[in-house]
Amino acid sequence: MSSADASSSEPEPSPSWLPPRPPIVSGEDYIASLRGRGLRVFLLGERVAEPVDHPILRPSINAVARTYDLARERPELATAVVRETGQRVNRFLHVTESAADVVQQNKMQRRLGQLTGTCFQRCVGMDAINALYTTTWLIDQAHGTPYHGRLRAFVRAMQRQNLVVGGAMTDVKGDRGKAPHEQSDPDMFVRVVRREPGGVVIRGAKAHQTGCINSHWIVVMPTMRLGPRDRDHAIVCAVPVDHPGLTFVVGRQSCDTRALEGGAVDVGNARYGGQEALIILDDVFVPDELVFMDGEFEFAADLVERFTAYHRRSYVCKAGVGDVLIGAAALIADYNGVPQVSHVRDKLVEMAHLNETIYGAGIAASHESTATPAGNWQNDAMLANVCKHNVTRFPYELARLAQDLAGGLLATLPSEHDFADPEVGPLLKKYLRGRDGVSAEARARALRLIENMTMGRNAVGYLTESMHGAGSPQAQRIQIARQMQVEDKKALARALAGITDEVEGGA
Ligand code: SF4
Ligand code: FE
Repeated sequence: MSSADASSSEPEPSPSWLPPRPPIVSGEDYIASLRGRGLRVFLLGERVAEPVDHPILRPSINAVARTYDLARERPELATAVVRETGQRVNRFLHVTESAADVVQQNKMQRRLGQLTGTCFQRCVGMDAINALYTTTWLIDQAHGTPYHGRLRAFVRAMQRQNLVVGGAMTDVKGDRGKAPHEQSDPDMFVRVVRREPGGVVIRGAKAHQTGCINSHWIVVMPTMRLGPRDRDHAIVCAVPVDHPGLTFVVGRQSCDTRALEGGAVDVGNARYGGQEALIILDDVFVPDELVFMDGEFEFAADLVERFTAYHRRSYVCKAGVGDVLIGAAALIADYNGVPQVSHVRDKLVEMAHLNETIYGAGIAASHESTATPAGNWQNDAMLANVCKHNVTRFPYELARLAQDLAGGLLATLPSEHDFADPEVGPLLKKYLRGRDGVSAEARARALRLIENMTMGRNAVGYLTESMHGAGSPQAQRIQIARQMQVEDKKALARALAGITDEVEGGA
């Protein structure tokens, strides 16, 4: 193995729950590793025989593959060295050892957003590993449990084979007004249905699972604060994606069936896409070695808050995707012959300003990381929530501006098959071109990319996921309210206003 992305020299043997295999090195290796797993995947009313070969799923697999190739091209960006072992590992599997590590995650995410123009799906696992690293340590301190050591062994095994780990947090939730134990069907939140010698059996479903079919393992986690009567829902564990008890139902995305039309232009981004699916876990046995919380309900909130703090600044990925959209908007303005018109330039400046504001809050959150008692590094939660809250708004404004610059042809452009038609194609090429020197096809491709990102397939990743991924806007407002220290701010104001006694009738 030539790459520095994974190590084959690690002497530690594979644990009993992980079949030995050579580490994945390249994107091509990764794609090969997904073949023949016999997953139960449903899409458009059919069981998918081989996800790797399905035209709707393949772009999402390509996006994950790009993370492996970036690790080979830019090891300083997309890999990290584990201090304890000296092993170089993929950054998506790395437990942070400094604030610089946390910052580097963001830089890698922006770059991957730029390269793929979509969600590359690996951040949930990275953020889950890092959140759990601390929470398992805290649980062990409180209860004398063995979770932290198990998690470390799991992470080391994932690093050695260089696998993709997904994080499964969002339960389907049933009646949103009720706690897990109050639901008429307790399976609305993933739970332990029984305990057997050597492990637990879990059941439930996780919604909106980013890249789950493209993962090798998923880490199941509770979705919210839990109480004493939710004990059976306080379960954190790792499950292999090819476990026969798992069923995946892929969500529909706008314009997804364009990938079935056999073209290369109308899809907008032919190479890359995101993936969201519903995972149903039907009585899945999990051995003790892969259980990282079982019943310690009082630590569910700690885990969720740590995870969301990491994940809400991971959304700087959208600044990378925004870079692509700004580029596409600038291209179409150029192709239309108006790149220097002042309002066009001003709209591009506005887009850049919004985009860098997203990045600014996220990267600041990472720079402000501090060491946890477990020894890894955790980013600033307030700034991360501000980053994600900006992400629930600014991409929509960026999309509006891109559509403004694109013009109405964005929504009325004929199909690439009409452009290829011998009868009407030459007429379309004559009438739908822009300035001299630019082909009608180049113009169509730029428009289709903007369509893809603002109302087509990758609008799921750029807009809807920006709204709801890592928690909907209200979830960030709750965290911002908790951390805004308004009493301290009032004290500052009192001091400068000279208010020493605010009781009516006082001095
Ligand atoms: Fe990563 Fe962004 Fe996708 Fe979340 S939405 S997995 S942060 S690329
Ligand atoms: Fe997400």
